[in-house]
Amino acid sequence: MVHFRHNLHSLVLFCVAGLCIAGTAMSQPASEGTKAEADPQIAAAIKQVSAERIRANIEKLVSFGTRLTLSAQDQAAIASGRGIGAAREWIKSEFERYSKDCGGCLEVKTDSFTEEAAERIPKPTEITNVYAVLKGTDATNAKRIVLVTGHYDSRNSDTLDVNGDAPGANDDASGTAVSLECARVLSKMKFPGTIIFLTVAGEEQGLNGSKHFAKMAKDQGWDLDAVLNNDIVGGDKNSVQNHSVVRVFSEGIPVAASEQDLRRIRGLGGESDSGSRELARYIADVGVTYDAGVKPMLIFRLDRYLRGGDHFSFNQQGFPAVRFTEFREDFHHQHQNVRNESGVEYGDLPKFVDFDYVAKVAKLNAATLASLAEAPAPPANVHILTKDLENDSTLTWDASPGGLASGYEVVWRATDSPQWLETQNVGSGTRATLKISKDNVIFGVRAVDRAGHRSLPVVPTPQR
Ligand SMILES: [Zn+2]
Repeated sequence: MVHFRHNLHSLVLFCVAGLCIAGTAMSQPASEGTKAEADPQIAAAIKQVSAERIRANIEKLVSFGTRLTLSAQDQAAIASGRGIGAAREWIKSEFERYSKDCGGCLEVKTDSFTEEAAERIPKPTEITNVYAVLKGTDATNAKRIVLVTGHYDSRNSDTLDVNGDAPGANDDASGTAVSLECARVLSKMKFPGTIIFLTVAGEEQGLNGSKHFAKMAKDQGWDLDAVLNNDIVGGDKNSVQNHSVVRVFSEGIPVAASEQDLRRIRGLGGESDSGSRELARYIADVGVTYDAGVKPMLIFRLDRYLRGGDHFSFNQQGFPAVRFTEFREDFHHQHQNVRNESGVEYGDLPKFVDFDYVAKVAKLNAATLASLAEAPAPPANVHILTKDLENDSTLTWDASPGGLASGYEVVWRATDSPQWLETQNVGSGTRATLKISKDNVIFGVRAVDRAGHRSLPVVPTPQR
């Protein structure tokens, strides 16, 4: 099947006498992907995501008073229900509860380490990531991992204030709740690939938890194909919020690219084909195939100005990772002491969070995780033959390992197009020649199974 799709991105800014108003920018359309056949089981699973559960989980996380990484975590503090230690124990018990409900299908684990003193860490501090593993059912495919994460630590105006309240309802109880709810819903299913539901600490002190976890994944040689970082997905109830979209940030030129990678990227115009960007495009497709109630708006940029997040820790280790964030942030409601000043309310409180919106973002995450964990492995060693000057394009690849693939699709787009525009089913072989000049388009090859689950696409490297 071959089809065209056009994307119109319109950012509308009215500027009069130096004053610019982004009033109608909230109608900026979501990024369009291409529609695949929906898997009825995945469609049914995402319907189980509950805004009521998400509300309860966010309120519970807020009830710990502060979740600052530097706050108390001794036994007395855990027993008192205040501080990051109590929050950590509660998250662990939630994962364990979900696991009990699925006959022990989740392996609940912690990744603890001592972070040495640094700019935002006055003394050596124990940091603990909490996660649950839904292991794949097929020994070979279980080695492929997809992961969802949010940070459970919080902060107020002073990132060293261990005593003051830091409710962190949006930043980032919302992302933590997405990880928990994906675990609850997807643990009722079985997938050939492995899914990890992660919550990290230390984000506000310098991405410490995610750095440690990503390095562990790299050191242990994990085949980590996708990281979905949810940070500030609360849909803050401000007057210019757009509750129908969620931004998906992805790096362009990979931070982990070697000199050789950079030479190839420069030579071929590969600056918009990082693994993270292919993952973002995949999410756009999922957003078309499944009705999450919110559409991804792809932002071709690592992150927002002046801000960073845990996806970057994974990018640094060479893993594809993207960040989900609400459309319009209200900075009065982040990293602020709870107070009222001249009629302006400050503080990251649950009353500013739209729980239905968080549930929709969780659905989009769950559908993406399920689609990837169900899909065959991508084809390996994908090349485009460049030995001769010719106007046809020949692609070759090694079969998708793991035995799930029934065939392959070649996708392509114009070099100035943000999204894959066309798809060609090329059967079950490992070579295809298309009557299109490789000079004018960017190609990708992906594996598909009989039910239509698609792998991430692989952009070919040239072979003489
Ligand atoms: Zn955050």
